[in-house]
Amino acid sequence: MKPSKETHNEPTRPKKSLGQNFLTDPNYLTKIAAAVEAKQEDSIIEIGPGRGALTELLLQTGAKVIAIELDRDLIGPLRESFSRRENFHLIERDALTVDFSDLLYPFGSVPQAGTAGPSVKLAANLPYYISTAVLRHIAAQREIFTSLILMFQREVVHRITARAGNSERGYLTVLAELAFDVQKLFDVPPAAFWPAPKVWSSVVKLTPKPYFKDEAGMLQLVSAGFAQKRKTIANNLKAFYPKYDIALRAAEIDPKIRAEALTLDEWQRLYRAIAAV
Ligand code: SAM
Repeated sequence: MKPSKETHNEPTRPKKSLGQNFLTDPNYLTKIAAAVEAKQEDSIIEIGPGRGALTELLLQTGAKVIAIELDRDLIGPLRESFSRRENFHLIERDALTVDFSDLLYPFGSVPQAGTAGPSVKLAANLPYYISTAVLRHIAAQREIFTSLILMFQREVVHRITARAGNSERGYLTVLAELAFDVQKLFDVPPAAFWPAPKVWSSVVKLTPKPYFKDEAGMLQLVSAGFAQKRKTIANNLKAFYPKYDIALRAAEIDPKIRAEALTLDEWQRLYRAIAAV
């Protein structure tokens, strides 16, 4: 076999452009691996394995680990560390372009979420700049997962978990609530990473919810409602929905409130009212 240029003794420099802050603290790695609750018969999709610290713990459970890494410079070292492990599969791709069920077929049948037996789980420590895109991508394919453990920058988790009336509530919050039950698990300090980021991170557990009838339409409405955060819901909807005022009245929503004041139930009521006028 041709020797690889990269080994774990000669790691490449972390790339800021790819959000590379590698988790190195063994206590937090163990906590995240435990949160995944991988069983031997499970398939775990890991987005951004990096230098493989979490991957190693997931592989030790005996579960099938399908790791998706974008950085070509990390592929060699990952192969070198894990290619002898039968339960390891590496995909060199942008995770945002991956159809997760396509990924699972070559490695056995696709288990269905909600049924007994093996399940598909997701684990990811995500770069800040793709948080929204990844959340959208996994929300659109959530039916294959039983649970997803994700680490985000802490402020992203504040936004995702912001209740109605909190000014941090936005499109991302409603998207997350529409698709998942969201449970914040714990915070992770900058010192747990190399190189240390400037901000804290948080780990969340997402449990998929059934699909809403017209999710694309519903999310378009939410996006329109938050178009300008300081404006009222009526002023934001005006530009997109000619009959916005009738719909707001039918849904019993005060036109003078801001989008951040609406609960998920109210968004869904408003969506139905808009679809009906
Ligand atoms: N999981 C590792 C850990 O906890 O140490 C690495 C985490 S690091 C914050 C993010 C990882 O995601 C990096 O390895 C980076 O190269 C990878 N990455 C960034 N964008 C990606 C994308 N679009 N698809 C797949 N991997 C990506």
